[in-house]
Amino acid sequence: MTIVTPIFAQYQDIKEQYSDCLLFFRLGDFYELFAEDAKIASKELSLVLTARECGGGRKTPMCGVPHHAVDNYIARLIKKGYKVAICEQLEDPKTVKKGIVKRDVVRVVTPGTVLEENMLENNAPNYLAAVWMERKGNAEFGFGLAYADISTGSFFAGQISGDDIRNKLADELTRIAPAELLLPDELMEDELFRLRLLDNCVGCLTPCPELGYIRRNCQEILISQFKVANMEALGLGEMPLAVIASAMVLTFLETTQKRTLDYIDKLKIIDSSVSLMLDAATRRNLELTSTLRGGKRKGSLLWVIDDTITAMGARLIREWLENPLLSADPINRRLAAVEELAGEPLILSELRDLLRNLYDMQRLITKVSYGNAGPRVLLNLKNSLAIQPQIFALLSRLHSSLFGSLLDDYDMLEDICSLLEEALDDDAPVSPKEAGIIRAGYDRELDELRSISASARQLILDLEARERERTGIRTLKVGYNKVFGYYIEISKGRVSEAPADYIRKQTLVNGERFITPELKELEEKIFSASQRIAEMEYTFFCRIRDRVAEAAPRICRTAEICAHLDALQSLASVALANNYCRPQVDDGDKIIITEGRHPVVEKILGQENYIPNDTYLDQESQRMMLITGPNMTGKSTYMRQVALIVLLARMGSFVPADSARIGYIDRIFTRVGASDDLSGGQSTFMVEMTETSNILRHATSRSLIILDEIGRGTSTYDGLSIAWAVAEYIINDKCGSKTLFATHYHELTVLEDDYDLIKNYSIAVKEKGSSIVFLHKILKGAADRSYGIQVAQLAGLPKEVIVRAKNILQQLEAGKHLEGRIVSHPQQEISCLPEGSVQEIIDSIKGLDLDSLSPLDALLQLNEWKKELCDE
Ligand code: ATP
Repeated sequence: MTIVTPIFAQYQDIKEQYSDCLLFFRLGDFYELFAEDAKIASKELSLVLTARECGGGRKTPMCGVPHHAVDNYIARLIKKGYKVAICEQLEDPKTVKKGIVKRDVVRVVTPGTVLEENMLENNAPNYLAAVWMERKGNAEFGFGLAYADISTGSFFAGQISGDDIRNKLADELTRIAPAELLLPDELMEDELFRLRLLDNCVGCLTPCPELGYIRRNCQEILISQFKVANMEALGLGEMPLAVIASAMVLTFLETTQKRTLDYIDKLKIIDSSVSLMLDAATRRNLELTSTLRGGKRKGSLLWVIDDTITAMGARLIREWLENPLLSADPINRRLAAVEELAGEPLILSELRDLLRNLYDMQRLITKVSYGNAGPRVLLNLKNSLAIQPQIFALLSRLHSSLFGSLLDDYDMLEDICSLLEEALDDDAPVSPKEAGIIRAGYDRELDELRSISASARQLILDLEARERERTGIRTLKVGYNKVFGYYIEISKGRVSEAPADYIRKQTLVNGERFITPELKELEEKIFSASQRIAEMEYTFFCRIRDRVAEAAPRICRTAEICAHLDALQSLASVALANNYCRPQVDDGDKIIITEGRHPVVEKILGQENYIPNDTYLDQESQRMMLITGPNMTGKSTYMRQVALIVLLARMGSFVPADSARIGYIDRIFTRVGASDDLSGGQSTFMVEMTETSNILRHATSRSLIILDEIGRGTSTYDGLSIAWAVAEYIINDKCGSKTLFATHYHELTVLEDDYDLIKNYSIAVKEKGSSIVFLHKILKGAADRSYGIQVAQLAGLPKEVIVRAKNILQQLEAGKHLEGRIVSHPQQEISCLPEGSVQEIIDSIKGLDLDSLSPLDALLQLNEWKKELCDE
């Protein structure tokens, strides 16, 4: 049997239970990692790798981090995809007389369960999600989906069934973008599925443990968490798969957090029937929250419309953007509120000023509920609560129905605010273990102890003065250190004059330290008072924190109201700053936009440089706009602009246009640009066709489709045929969606003659010499030409290529290719390549002596050259 030291034996025991985590093992002021964990951590965190005796003279690799800096190190490991188990000392080493200190894991940190500020993004949620799959026979029958953000306490659950469930699930997960997803083995083992999730949206995948246990007990798990009688009370009566997924999330939280999370007390149902649906590709293509290239926030729609002041507001506006609404009523309520705020610039600016004083109440209250909030956190909460009456008063001056209903629910939490105000000192420290938390006047006994402690200190000063007088030693002083407590210090030269009743304690280079019984008595008074003060302050603090924790659901509701106000003021401010208008949103079938603009491109180019355009789509006269025109004219921008205006209107925002009427839209589909999904095993063309097929199978007469250059990924005739057939399929009543269809295939413009509901449009360009100018203006009628070669010229393609391309184009247009007569070598425009006699002419120009050449000779020479070239 190998001998191991007791500590290492303890380590091994614990490590065995957390084999999938890096174990941070607390030893005094450090967290140490051992063996393989140490090797990984030293590499990932650039820590020095040392070794520690683990028994029988053997050593094991070790590295460590100081306890006060642990958050940073953990954050870095989590970002790199590791999980971390934090193992603490459960006893004070000073009080342990025999054996080693008890230790155990108090929390497992994973990407979906982080709480530390430096690991969370302020303006985005951090979701832990779980998926459960149910089969019927061999077929996948349905998915349960649940997700929670433990940093704010939100919890959602729902179920996906019907056809095409994998795509629907992927769409949902793209919307949620969980930091961590729990998956049952079967899905975990599906390589393609995993890659697709990781590629698109999911931070990391975690196999779900103990599924057997969860399946048996899931209803009980939910009943005990949400304190309800049954699943019906949660709205999950008909959703058994959602129940399992929820239980997966809750069980994972229990095993990692090692505590009950009472503040998660509400479950919201994921209800796709209230939101306008956006599939994963559409979300990406429209660059709602991040750009296609680089995944940056700047350049996304959120970047333009998020002018929120608080983190709570920022998270809410993002949620609104990701979940535009179907029904006109709630949208119009938001729009009316935005309009009212935009029309009251004074209230708007007062509101913005007030919001600046708010801390992230949602995340503060989570810390309080977790029991790891210090006094400063409570102070920040108090400061946030203290301005609630002012916010309430401001809200009372507004009249829209949405403000009215916020007002109805408004809880100013005055009781909690005054509790904190009375109890907490304004300069309370960060840690609950430090002194000075409780305000003077809060408790009589505490005040008395403080005055005893203060007067004892004064008595010590008096004693110092008296002893100076008694001994006549003016340099005598009373000092303090941790080892000896209070002492009287006399310098070396005067030590012989120390009175007889002084007891020698310590000899220094420059003097001696003494104590006296009187000094020790005072010291005892101060010590016992300080100790008692510390105990009392801590007890009071915990009691107050518990009372605040009890009010967590109330605080969460008020925080939510503040988030709403912030999101609404953001929409109002953005509307004013960018000259947006209130759209008319109804359940009708028209989209009418006058002078619409692309919110992001306009922001980047400046409004004065952006050319606005109109749009009209309905079911009776113009269902499809077929847009042709050269590259770079703005076709993609125009089509996206329409989708974004619809989306903004349907989230309750003003829109970049002079006026807009936006009818009912159930889904927006986009098929834009070429993108590979090579890691998902799909070529460019395959991705294009898969996305198109998804659109054609799901679009309805109430959908909006944006198709940009369909059929480009294959040969010309195949592509043209596909594009043609797709256009015909959409325009028929079977699908009948409103569609913007941009294409390079001019042949398609004849569709206008066959279908009343298809109208040709083009984007204007002006020819200037051999070059062109883009006017970015959409006009009725098909484009006459592609101007592709001119655009290529603008892009700087070598002249030879441009000339040759023009030459080939001429031949193609003359139909020579049909007779197999494309000339493989350039003829007419060969002059740009100096060869043969052309070269001779160039050489003779170079050799000309212009000084001795008469004008007549020059003309004759020119005539000669011309003849030569023409013969050629
Ligand atoms: P391609 O067919 O090559 O994709 P396109 O016709 O779709 O080209 P866009 O990519 O939409 O062209 O636009 C090209 C550029 O033109 C944009 O990056 C933008 O800077 C500018 N642009 C587009 N629309 C406008 C507009 N309405 N006003 C001003 N500038 C615009």
